[in-house]
Amino acid sequence: MADDTGSYFLADRAFVDRYARDELNRFDADFLSQRGHTFQKTGDLAHTAFLTRWAQRQHIGGGSAYVILIPTLRCDLKCSYCQVSRAPVAAKGFDWDEQTLERILTFLDDLPVDEIQIEFQGGEPFLRLDLLRAVAEYARRRFRRVRFVVCTNLQTLDADILAFLASEDVLISTSLDGPHQVHTRNRTGTSELTQVFHRNLARVLDLIGPDRVSALPTIDMEHPPVPEELISAYEDFGFTSIFLRPVNYQGFARKSHPSARASESWPGYYRDFIDTLIVRNARSGRVMEEFYLAHCLRRILAPGADNHTDLRNPNIPTGENAVIDFDGLIYPSDEARMLARVRQVDLSIGNVADGLDHEKLALLAPSHVNNFDPDCIHCPYQPFCGTDPIDDLSRNGRIDVPRHESWFCQRHLAVFDLAIELLYSGDPAVDFTLCRWLGLETLPDALRPVLS
Ligand code: SF4
Repeated sequence: MADDTGSYFLADRAFVDRYARDELNRFDADFLSQRGHTFQKTGDLAHTAFLTRWAQRQHIGGGSAYVILIPTLRCDLKCSYCQVSRAPVAAKGFDWDEQTLERILTFLDDLPVDEIQIEFQGGEPFLRLDLLRAVAEYARRRFRRVRFVVCTNLQTLDADILAFLASEDVLISTSLDGPHQVHTRNRTGTSELTQVFHRNLARVLDLIGPDRVSALPTIDMEHPPVPEELISAYEDFGFTSIFLRPVNYQGFARKSHPSARASESWPGYYRDFIDTLIVRNARSGRVMEEFYLAHCLRRILAPGADNHTDLRNPNIPTGENAVIDFDGLIYPSDEARMLARVRQVDLSIGNVADGLDHEKLALLAPSHVNNFDPDCIHCPYQPFCGTDPIDDLSRNGRIDVPRHESWFCQRHLAVFDLAIELLYSGDPAVDFTLCRWLGLETLPDALRPVLS
């Protein structure tokens, strides 16, 4: 059970029955009061503390921006699950022109922040290294703190790209779908191209080290990789974190992966993967993290784990968290850009020529808060969870499907159920992994309160 501030405890069925019948006993009342779940009257210390914790949960830290830039839609691969309708390498009209670049720099300049993370996506961003350089040079002058993430397929590396990567503020994010044959089937199409990718990945890791390189697999649930083999593929490159994601039912991926719309087998696969990871970590003493589960655990244990833009609440679209497409249109998220690409619905929130469309931003805002959803308000995971109306639109064509029927909800119920189950498991192998993920020596009892 959890209250609106995210303070939780484990209770048995008998307590739930007493609570539902409003027949709490003295022991129940003491437990709830001592843990700050109840207060005597409005304004007393317990009430004020409750409100403070509640406000901390609603606060998303400000002062920094996270902007995704798409300098080109062209790409030299044709991955089966590509969401963005990439354009062929030789295509014309899919890159920023001079004027768009100038306007994007002005957009960045106008942001009311002095810290920023700029993520370059595509297409393949390194096809327009000149544009990446122009943005980087400008942003380093404009912002007090800046970080660049290049989301690249790493099929091409040359001296100029390596020189760009040499700066400490540049990070790489790439896709490694697992064993050679899985990566080839999903992404490159030929064994030779997979070998090129592996060579380039090893070279980049050598050059800038694993702290500045991340990789993540996209799982095709029609042909999922064997968990052990997937973990081995990551260990072979020295990675210590995997972010497991199913094929996204967005953009053009929906054509080649129609079953991704309601991937019922995902929670089972995910759970098997985590079981394998935990057993393997305990056996080897090395620790591989599954990023999303670790992130959900951090959100359960304390407020402030809000840096993952796909899971936070409220998650109101703003110019400080925007995606700017190759044509200068601004979107609230990459998924919103996909819906526009397949012409399902235009969710652009402005363009770099005219600025943000505040009317549209105001229209989108209410659906990005879970506090008033009729399902979420009864869910113990509401303080830790989020919303994804864009995903609801993509899968169902509407944002008012009952929450518990949405893919977002079903996926997150399963992840949070698993997180709580692991937290309370008491199995030494589980505790070993959780402690390493959370940076703790041991899991204190205070993190697993029980009312029985
Ligand atoms: S989306 Fe589902 S899991 Fe998340 S808070 Fe709402 S009801 Fe709970």
